[in-house]
Amino acid sequence: MDLALSADDLAFQDEVRTFLKDNLTPDLREAGRKTGGVFADFAASTRWNKILAGRGWSATTWPKEHGGTGWSATQRYIFARESTIADAPRVFNMSVRMVGPVVMKFGTPEQKAKYLPGIVAGDIVFCQGYSEPGSGSDLASLRTRADSDGDDYVINGTKIWTTFAHNANHMFCLVRTSSEGKQQDGITFVLIDDMNTPGLTVKPILTLAGDHEVNQVFFDDVRVPKANRIGPENAGWTVAKHLLEYERGGDAYTPNLYARLDDVRRIAREEAADGGGRLIEDPGFTERLAEAEISIKALEMIELQVLSDLSQGKNPGAISSAMKIRGSEIVQSIDLMGIDALAHYGVPFEPTAREVGHNEPTVTPDHAITAMPLYLNNRAATIYAGSSEVQRNILAKAMLGL
Ligand SMILES: Cc1cc2nc3c(=O)[nH]c(=O)nc-3n(C[C@H](O)[C@H](O)[C@H](O)COP(=O)(O)OP(=O)(O)OC[C@H]3O[C@@H](n4cnc5c(N)ncnc54)[C@H](O)[C@@H]3O)c2cc1C
Repeated sequence: MDLALSADDLAFQDEVRTFLKDNLTPDLREAGRKTGGVFADFAASTRWNKILAGRGWSATTWPKEHGGTGWSATQRYIFARESTIADAPRVFNMSVRMVGPVVMKFGTPEQKAKYLPGIVAGDIVFCQGYSEPGSGSDLASLRTRADSDGDDYVINGTKIWTTFAHNANHMFCLVRTSSEGKQQDGITFVLIDDMNTPGLTVKPILTLAGDHEVNQVFFDDVRVPKANRIGPENAGWTVAKHLLEYERGGDAYTPNLYARLDDVRRIAREEAADGGGRLIEDPGFTERLAEAEISIKALEMIELQVLSDLSQGKNPGAISSAMKIRGSEIVQSIDLMGIDALAHYGVPFEPTAREVGHNEPTVTPDHAITAMPLYLNNRAATIYAGSSEVQRNILAKAMLGL
């Protein structure tokens, strides 16, 4: 594998650094630094996305013909790394990462024209309506029904854990259009153009961290034009699987992990732990820091290997499952160190003091603002986008032939 950056890549890195320096205002950087969940505060993330769109950099994984950057895998990695180092807000990116590639592959020319430019501009924001109560890992068992009525489907049922459904203006959704045969064969993929469609209700679910990120969405005779179906009726499972490949692969984990570890080091240096000493002086703690750094480096080697494969047009395959498992486990171990370093300052964090729809904690000191919410929020990292157990099943099947 060739991991060295070429002269072109180094020039690109300079271009990215200059752009970030010129465009990341102090308040955007602050929003990036204070991100207590997976994505930054929605208003800041939207503002940043618009700035990226203005530069033509909002769809980093898309080909140029659809308004994307057409970047190589290496360029995407450089961009992700530099953005993290510069504290850029993490953009809520389900439209670009997930549904966009699906529309490109399975959509009609009309659907491509209708959705892709709006996604690139940051005007169309999709949330993901896959999971239901009782249908998460076993997604094919989903029961939200779409009955045919003339040119429309009439949808009834419920979706759960829908991230940012309260902020998104569109939803991509798996619905059951047939109960005949195999469960997978009765599923259809539809797009909902308006989260205010009559009969559609979004109810917040507050997480342990006090965040309002996820929701339950209820459908009560919601009419959706059949023209919004992606792919044929009852062929939604094929579309859904294509999308999950994008959800589960291709992320640059390690830049964020390095940044998180640096945060923990800073907390351990600056905050007096219980008993008055600083944890950075504790050999047991520095050993944990070293272990975490070694784990990140090992993951980085895999990540760069995947990057090298992608650059040569190879499919990384099930290794993305291994990366998801390790990435989420490492982030949880770093979060735990953050809490240990924070010591009693973790205590004043009060999730209940945070208002619904408001992503910013109300407590100080500064370190507690991110460390505690991140620790609590990231408990979900080994669950969403395919739980660790499910990823291990994929690895067992694909790599060990079990
Ligand atoms: C913060 C967060 C955000 C999310 N955002 C979205 C979203 O935007 N849109 C969306 O559609 N969904 C979203 N999800 C849902 C997520 O995809 C599901 O939570 C996940 O797929 C697990 O499903 P479940 O919660 O029903 O748990 P279950 O599938 O019931 O699993 C419960 C436990 O059983 C284990 N398990 C299940 N099946 C197996 C098996 N075959 N072998 C071994 N162990 C197994 C699981 O690993 C888990 O530990 C989100 C979830 C979270 C926590």
